[in-house]
Amino acid sequence: MTTGHEPGHANPGPQVLLSAQARDALRAAGRASRTRERGGILVGYMEGRTIVVEDALTVPDPRANRTAYVRRPGPAKEVLDNYLRHTDALAGYVGEWHTHPEPAQPSPMDHAAMRAMTRRNQYPVAMVVAALRPGGTVQFHALLGQPDTWPHRLAGNHISVPVTHT
Ligand SMILES: [Zn+2]
Repeated sequence: MTTGHEPGHANPGPQVLLSAQARDALRAAGRASRTRERGGILVGYMEGRTIVVEDALTVPDPRANRTAYVRRPGPAKEVLDNYLRHTDALAGYVGEWHTHPEPAQPSPMDHAAMRAMTRRNQYPVAMVVAALRPGGTVQFHALLGQPDTWPHRLAGNHISVPVTHT
């Protein structure tokens, strides 16, 4: 586990906090997404209302093209299990990520996927989108599940939250 994170003392609202490692991995994936979208799972932990993302693991999708990345549950579980075997016990699955080859917000399809993720998990999970800007920089967007709000089982409530990094 990474120590020394101070959760947003000035801003107690829900947010996604990327470790330097996760940020670098997502930026690299975003830049590489010109030819093919990439994606995978986020590992980390909750700290108050912050999802701390320690790492962004890539789950290969051989069928991905420039506009579609589909996370397949089998390979994702394999990647996650392998990671958790080699890391501390505090980290776990906290959501999913994928790239956009252009500076686009989460799409209607992303929101639908997020609703399904929120319904599937008892605790808040995040979806992080790493969107490539024309200049080669990468912009992060995040959606955060709100499983404790009613009626989450039907609606899969989620909100857009800021992304910060260490
Ligand atoms: Zn998307």
